[in-house]
Amino acid sequence: MNLHEYQGKEILSHFGVRIQRGIVAKSAQDAVTAAKQLHAETGTSWYVVKAQVHAGGRGKGGGVKLAKSLQEVETIAGQIIGMNLITPQTSAEGKKVHQVLIAEDVYYPGESETAEFYMSVLLNRARGRNMIMYSTEGGMDIEHVAETTPHLIFTEEVDPSVGLMPFQARRIAFNLGLSGNAFKEMTKFVTSLYKAYVKSDASLFEINPVLKTSDNKIMAVDAKVTIDDNAMFRHQDYVNLRDLREENPIEVEAGALGLNYVDLDGNVGCMVNGAGLAMATMDLIKQAGGEPANFLDVGGTADAARVEAAFKIILKDPNVKAILINIFGGIVRCDRVAQGVIDAYKNIGDIKVPIIVRLQGTNADVAKELLDNSGLAVLSATEFKEAADKVHSVLA
Ligand code: GDP
Ligand code: MN
Repeated sequence: MNLHEYQGKEILSHFGVRIQRGIVAKSAQDAVTAAKQLHAETGTSWYVVKAQVHAGGRGKGGGVKLAKSLQEVETIAGQIIGMNLITPQTSAEGKKVHQVLIAEDVYYPGESETAEFYMSVLLNRARGRNMIMYSTEGGMDIEHVAETTPHLIFTEEVDPSVGLMPFQARRIAFNLGLSGNAFKEMTKFVTSLYKAYVKSDASLFEINPVLKTSDNKIMAVDAKVTIDDNAMFRHQDYVNLRDLREENPIEVEAGALGLNYVDLDGNVGCMVNGAGLAMATMDLIKQAGGEPANFLDVGGTADAARVEAAFKIILKDPNVKAILINIFGGIVRCDRVAQGVIDAYKNIGDIKVPIIVRLQGTNADVAKELLDNSGLAVLSATEFKEAADKVHSVLA
């Protein structure tokens, strides 16, 4: 689950990370009220208006703007709310902005220069370790930094059973070239950030920029946070943070039906029972010269109702040129699944794409007969290779 910047910042603040303060607003009027409240709390009279969408690069797309008066807050918030924000990380149509964060301006002049750093905490699956990635080159496109000046990106590996050690936090502050109060602030920042990452069961906390203010405070100006969905059962307090408007509508619908569906870019829809078989089926599709249009695990009970629901979900994707159903009948008998496919096909009616069905397991032969005699445009297969060849032939 991805979070909005303002939600990520709330979690950070809860764990003691200093943040750029802000209040979320859904209208230009609310934005002004928010700005007045911020003024009362922080004394600021300059504000940043920040579009809240699940995409980075908002600044470049015109979704982050400085307002130097309440009047400007109202005008800018009015422009940003309701706009379709296009950034390097959105599709060409962009993302509709429903709300903005009114934040205090933290780039004020002072005794020393401001500096922008990059910092993220993430899981390094290959190493089985958490990792803190950081750089002096913050505020900009970190992918660009990684490409052109990779030596400016540092990493600190953290053993999850030991946690972040104080010397590691100091090494980070040192490598970022800090001294004095900023150095102390940075060690505290890193320690609290790592704690937030662990305690919230996140798989990513990306703070870009981490700002050193002109009075040598270290704070999070931005926050991109991903919470591990598998841990949501122990974060009831995070359930309401989900913003379905930001998610893929087909995935949301599939989730409500209890189907494990992930939208992909390819042209062959697949319907499979079991995640392992689903992965193998995607490989099979690639070998047959296709690209999977989705990952879909219908689970153990591949009955007619579920097969029909899964069909409907797959057919919502206009890129689907063929559907491969690959089901192992262990607990559920293949003939029952075949009947389910036939019933679903008839119920939906107008299916224009070819369907290849491979059923293997209990009563596979009966199932094949059922499909072959159904009179429907369904190609049956019992072997993996046979199914792949049939996918290949319908795509050709
Ligand atoms: P992103 O573009 O989606 O990554 O959004 P950010 O939250 O990182 O904001 C983009 C840029 O806006 C930052 O890199 C800063 O340069 C600028 N910015 C953010 N907060 C402030 C602020 O308080 N004052 C000023 N002047 N600029 C800010
Ligand atoms: Mn940013």
